[in-house]
Amino acid sequence: MGKIVCVGRNYVEHIKELHNEIPDEPVYFMKPFSAISGSLVWQKGLHYEGEIAFLYEKGRFAKAAFGFDLTLREVQSRLKRKGLPWERAKAFKNSAVFSPFVPIKSWENLELRLYRNGKLVQKGDTSLMIFNPDYLLKDIDEIFGLEDGDIVMSGTPKGVGEVGKGDVFEGELWQNGKSLVKGKWKAL
Ligand code: MG
Repeated sequence: MGKIVCVGRNYVEHIKELHNEIPDEPVYFMKPFSAISGSLVWQKGLHYEGEIAFLYEKGRFAKAAFGFDLTLREVQSRLKRKGLPWERAKAFKNSAVFSPFVPIKSWENLELRLYRNGKLVQKGDTSLMIFNPDYLLKDIDEIFGLEDGDIVMSGTPKGVGEVGKGDVFEGELWQNGKSLVKGKWKAL
């Protein structure tokens, strides 16, 4: 059984919108594979974070997808204030949703776009990351160990927000102006 390692605070503009400090080392947390869902399951207080997700195979990030790091933001804020772990807010059932993973040759110029009800709400690319995917791979492998099939979620750019019941989301991954993969979900 694999794991999902998630990076918090990897885009400066998103750190500002949540009034967090810019980290001098990556913030990591994990989701279990039991958190993965094929559909976007709505619940009260659910917030979206669109992210570039990588699949680790044979020592490299061999595939990429658009992914949702779904978050119960109010629960997370409460846990943060108390200095407690974030799992209740981040690692619950249905908190990880992915488009299909597609093979990539390189992570350079990977870009995500997220539309909510037809309106662009998030856009970011690997050049805006504080810690780039090469750094993350090495660091995560050193600390936790990466195994084939593990997933790394590389952080969210600015524009996070609440998921409304019935909202339609379209998440896209682009590279060098070419669409790699898309996913569409309705929050129900
Ligand atoms: Mg995130």
